[in-house]
Amino acid sequence: MVFNDNNSKHTLNSNESVQQVSVDYDSDWRSNLSNLEVPISVEKDPLLVKALSLTIEGRRISKDMGAKLFREADSQGLSSLANLIKVSRFGNYVFFNENLHVNITNVCTLACRFCAFRRGSRHIDAYSLSPEEFVSRIKPFSHIIDEVHAVGGLHPEWTVSHYSDIYQLTKQRYPNISIKSLTAVEVKHLASRSGLSISDTLSLLHEAGLDSLPGGGAEILVDSVRDRICRGKEKSSEYLEIHHEAHMLGIPTNCTMLFGTVETIEDMMTHLDKLRKQQDNSSGFQCFVPYPFLKDNTRLPEARLSTANEILRVISISRIMLDNIPHLKAYRMNIGDHLAEIAIHSGADDIDGTVGHEEIMHEAGSTTSVDYDAKRMQKLVKSTGLVPVKRNSTYNSFVILDEQIKSEKMKLPIAGQ
Ligand code: SF4
Repeated sequence: MVFNDNNSKHTLNSNESVQQVSVDYDSDWRSNLSNLEVPISVEKDPLLVKALSLTIEGRRISKDMGAKLFREADSQGLSSLANLIKVSRFGNYVFFNENLHVNITNVCTLACRFCAFRRGSRHIDAYSLSPEEFVSRIKPFSHIIDEVHAVGGLHPEWTVSHYSDIYQLTKQRYPNISIKSLTAVEVKHLASRSGLSISDTLSLLHEAGLDSLPGGGAEILVDSVRDRICRGKEKSSEYLEIHHEAHMLGIPTNCTMLFGTVETIEDMMTHLDKLRKQQDNSSGFQCFVPYPFLKDNTRLPEARLSTANEILRVISISRIMLDNIPHLKAYRMNIGDHLAEIAIHSGADDIDGTVGHEEIMHEAGSTTSVDYDAKRMQKLVKSTGLVPVKRNSTYNSFVILDEQIKSEKMKLPIAGQ
């Protein structure tokens, strides 16, 4: 994948030119990787050297080796190896988009133990947005954003028609805003409530304006863990099947991992392995988003919680193991801006966007600022020495936000798959 030098189309402000670029998915990131200088912190650890060799050869890091890397590899070396792989794909670019989170309802028929967001339907804070209320939330941001990220609880009464009305009205008012909406369990719930198959449910919603699915709700794709933290939610296999159906319909999706609850390292490796097998099968995952459990207002006292070091190790291992999912997001709503800045040097190539409004992580204790604009995102990325690239929701339109280093970086090979 190579950035092509197309016409400059956008201007951020009078002082700073930006560059609209397109993407060619032809080049081979593994061969780029074989040509990069290996950091000393990788070179001195035989385990990391082996992982690098396997990756260059196109062989997979097994679950056992992933667990061994997680437990034993030097932290700096692990981070450096993940960063090297990221650089082989994307050079020094870091992607973000201008988005807005709108939660459609916090009413939910389930009560996952890690969830601080859901409310019972009679709770004083319960809310359920009508289509008009939904678009009114978008209105103040409509001139800025490219994407609305809309997830919520499992409403006891709504069917597909309510969501179709929401998406249709959104597209009618704001045709250029991409709708990324519904976790897998919401899709399952709507299908069940509407008496439809998963495929028919997704087709109807796609026709109404749904552009992509976020990856939320994957938690850990091991049913014994799910039984402890989110009993009643879809099974691991159902999560994967729903994403498979979406991919078959041409709807791109993301995937996630919630860690730091009760899972083992082996459970995390199983999760990553299931995702890459699914991607082998259906190729529709755009981005992987790992995030640690936040405990405020939840009901999971036995959660082991994650240290900053563990969070970075998860991000690095994910980059090393997920050789077929192109993007890896540092989800700053959850891990905070400071850790996100380190994460983009530890394997992550994408950082969550302007956001505008966020409830799910903030109910659980996040204090990350939501009122970012593109300038602030640009500053955050540039302060780490990397190059900010504004992307669209579905990763097929990119604008480099740094004219000064454009000419140098435009030569970097950037691989997608
Ligand atoms: S995580 Fe989702 S499904 Fe579970 S209780 Fe919260 S809103 Fe409901």
